[in-house]
Amino acid sequence: GKTYECKARGSFRKDGVSPLVGDRVEFEVTEEFKGIINKIFERKNFIERPPVANIDKLFIISSYTNPTPNTLLIDKMTVIARYNNIEPIIVFNKADMGDFSQIREIYERSGFKTYTVSALNNEGITELRSELEDCISAFTGNSGVGKSSILNSLFERDIIKTGDISQKLGRGRHTTRHTELYEIPPNSFVADTPGFSTFEAGITDYKLKEMLPELFFDFKEYLPYCKFSSCTHTSDNGCAVLQALKEGKIQASRHNSYFELF
Ligand code: GDP
Ligand code: ZN
Repeated sequence: GKTYECKARGSFRKDGVSPLVGDRVEFEVTEEFKGIINKIFERKNFIERPPVANIDKLFIISSYTNPTPNTLLIDKMTVIARYNNIEPIIVFNKADMGDFSQIREIYERSGFKTYTVSALNNEGITELRSELEDCISAFTGNSGVGKSSILNSLFERDIIKTGDISQKLGRGRHTTRHTELYEIPPNSFVADTPGFSTFEAGITDYKLKEMLPELFFDFKEYLPYCKFSSCTHTSDNGCAVLQALKEGKIQASRHNSYFELF
């Protein structure tokens, strides 16, 4: 419950490591509320853009209108999250405007945790807040879906000005990008990053393509049953994934996204 302002031990730089927002560290108190970071513990993950470590959950936000949900974008974000060992959580905002049950069902059936909320009238916000407990979380989604509004409802105060995020993004800062963790006491942390909507970590990695099928967790149980171990699950040649798709066990939009991403 105390805050210590720390410097990193000099030898970190020599080793090419530097403390990141979200790091768990060991530090030594040098004077009152000051210290030196001596050790950075192994990271569960680390994202370059936004620069942050140890994210547990990625909340992928879409909204009823302005803009409408885009399954390819949602699915792409779930892949990036799982590639980085982050749990993707699907959130539909602006529930006051209409019914999300169809798209929500696609994600429920595909094994995701989903929430329907309205930042406008606080519907579902309490449930969402409990999902944040004991975690470091980040939020992503297109501009206008209501990320700032949801965060302000979660925190019960205006931590971010709505409609401000894209402005922050556009204004290229000449200093290094700034990331901060906001706390909902006692133990929920949310990364405020100017890059909320450009959570792009790892997407250019070649390994990602190779791993793509297993990052679709809803395909996982069928993968061992494809006729060829080199199966790309894009054409019908003894493919167990396509068979499951035909039988309605895999959602069509999920396989469409897989195909596009592949
Ligand atoms: P961001 O760009 O994702 O941070 O989105 P904002 O939080 O700035 O919200 C974009 C617009 O959507 C604003 O005009 C908000 O007032 C509006 N908005 C946000 N949440 C809701 C909601 O639950 N219902 C409705 N009807 N409008 C909302
Ligand atoms: Zn296959």
